[in-house]
Amino acid sequence: MARIGIVTCSNTTQDMGCSSVGCLADLRSRGGHFEHYPKDAPLELIGIVSCAGCPTIVGAEKILDRIRGLVAVGVEAIHLAACVVHLCPFKKRYEDVIRQRFPHLSVVAGTHAPPPGMDEAQMGEFFKTCVKETLHVPRKTIVETVMEKMTPQPGTPS
Ligand code: SF4
Repeated sequence: MARIGIVTCSNTTQDMGCSSVGCLADLRSRGGHFEHYPKDAPLELIGIVSCAGCPTIVGAEKILDRIRGLVAVGVEAIHLAACVVHLCPFKKRYEDVIRQRFPHLSVVAGTHAPPPGMDEAQMGEFFKTCVKETLHVPRKTIVETVMEKMTPQPGTPS
């Protein structure tokens, strides 16, 4: 039995609405970075948690606040999701601090396989393009909307 925890990028899950469908599909089908587990070992998903948000350049240990909860319920392997692997500037630091703090854990950089016809690097570039188009689509703030509605328009009776 392999007890697995997945750490996702909170930008992709919280801001861009990824529901980890690719990660879960390859976990179920033993594809991608779940392929290496012995075929006779059931894979049990213990939990999925997003990162704790930007740790700044000095606070990668912030990720441990997320890992401790998985450790408390007996996780054995932490998979950094494909979004973390390809988008996160702190990925290497995260791997290091998790390994230092919890040396008994296996830390795997990756979850789902690349889309058909792509290798890992191509998937990374594809991801970045998708994020660039999705993460920041300008939208009005509530203040702008309220102020617009409260500002009399020319020609409208005051
Ligand atoms: S880029 Fe890294 S630190 Fe930022 S939200 Fe994603 S996983 Fe978290």
